[in-house]
Amino acid sequence: AIDAAAIERWIRAFAAAVAENEQELTRLDSPIGDADHGANMNRGLKAVVAKLDGGSTGGPGALLKQTGMTLVSTVGGASGPLYGTFFLRMATAIGDADTVDQKLFAAALRAGVDGVVARGKAEAGDKTMYDALAPAVDALDAAFGGEDTAGALQAAADAAAQGRDSTTPMQARKGRASYLGERSVGHQDPGATSAALLLQTAADTLA
Ligand code: ADP
Ligand code: MG
Ligand code: MG
Repeated sequence: AIDAAAIERWIRAFAAAVAENEQELTRLDSPIGDADHGANMNRGLKAVVAKLDGGSTGGPGALLKQTGMTLVSTVGGASGPLYGTFFLRMATAIGDADTVDQKLFAAALRAGVDGVVARGKAEAGDKTMYDALAPAVDALDAAFGGEDTAGALQAAADAAAQGRDSTTPMQARKGRASYLGERSVGHQDPGATSAALLLQTAADTLA
């Protein structure tokens, strides 16, 4: 089962992946945005890691709540409230549980993604982070239940990567990229790209 140490590994691995890909995320946000997605995410996750370094704060839910609140308060731009809400809704779904089994993790991930939708009103095909997150949640639900947690998490990560790639031919209907209309076609969405990192680091750290 997934405990607080595993959740902390995940959050730290996501922060490291975003730091490593900061320039790439910002490069993707140049033609269809304002070239700050890498900087936004890296700033927020550096603050999250600083809080973790300052001392652990309880169980999986508490760690996810701290992460969400820190992202909301340190990331300007669309991605801060969206990722913040994602982690806060996951935290609420997990509650006080000391360990998170496969079923609860899948339900919490779905609650997080539902939070992104409640906040940003994105639908499938709008060319946002939702296009990477939604297929991952569905893949996780489909794969879980068996013994193979690692395999289920990797199936979710693969679905997120496919979802990320699927954003390239889409015309954006949410966020800054939507201002470009047809000119947003042919560019990979930066938020879907960071969301794929979120799922790949989950597969790398939680099984
Ligand atoms: P900003 O657009 O404010 O500069 P970022 O560049 O950090 O914020 O994040 C942009 C990303 O946020 C987009 O690539 C997209 O994936 C995501 N996004 C924007 N608006 C929405 C929305 N309404 N719902 C879901 N995701 C969104
Ligand atoms: Mg931007
Ligand atoms: Mg911005």
